[in-house]
Amino acid sequence: MDVYDRLISGYREFRANYLGDDNKEWLKVAGKRQDPKVMMVACSDSRVHPAILTRSALGELFMIRNVANVVPPYEEDRGESTYHGTSAAVEFAINHLRVEHIIIMGHSGCGGIGSLMDHTVTDETEGYSFIRPWMKIVEEAAEFSELERVSMSNRSRTCVCEKRAILISLNNLASFPWVKDALLEGKLKLHGWYFDIKSGNLSEYNWQKERFEEIT
Ligand SMILES: [Zn+2]
Repeated sequence: MDVYDRLISGYREFRANYLGDDNKEWLKVAGKRQDPKVMMVACSDSRVHPAILTRSALGELFMIRNVANVVPPYEEDRGESTYHGTSAAVEFAINHLRVEHIIIMGHSGCGGIGSLMDHTVTDETEGYSFIRPWMKIVEEAAEFSELERVSMSNRSRTCVCEKRAILISLNNLASFPWVKDALLEGKLKLHGWYFDIKSGNLSEYNWQKERFEEIT
């Protein structure tokens, strides 16, 4: 079956279930306002789908997906033709939806992180004119000492970079004034997740121990 036809047939299957008897409870509230408790920031990567990974239903996850699941630092929009798509979603999640958890989920084999680790890629490299400047937000994650360069494999350095980038984004998230307030008031919790695509293992950042730990 053609890839597009597969989508249409998938939709037909979805609609049959959606309007089915099993979904009666949801249909009662479906038209009303959304009330998710969780916001998830994930990569655009097709292999990393928050709803599928967590078996979440409609209405449960407020989602931002962008290249390499990056959250920029807070900066006021001064009308200088900048586009704050991710920041707008953060603002909506906190000030209007009042979500209780924000999860930033990174993953193995991330193309955005790959462009950061590949030092031959610059803002001028063809095909990276938007990707590379966007990745500057987490550029520090790709800084390694000489010792790290020689003692670690490329693959493990990339993995470290992917995890560090999650922490930078969490830190950026906490720089938004309303996020800061919600954290201080104990109304919000921030989480860092790392999904290893091949093994299917999900790790969670332990704030006390300052390391990612596998969820068993
Ligand atoms: Zn990615």
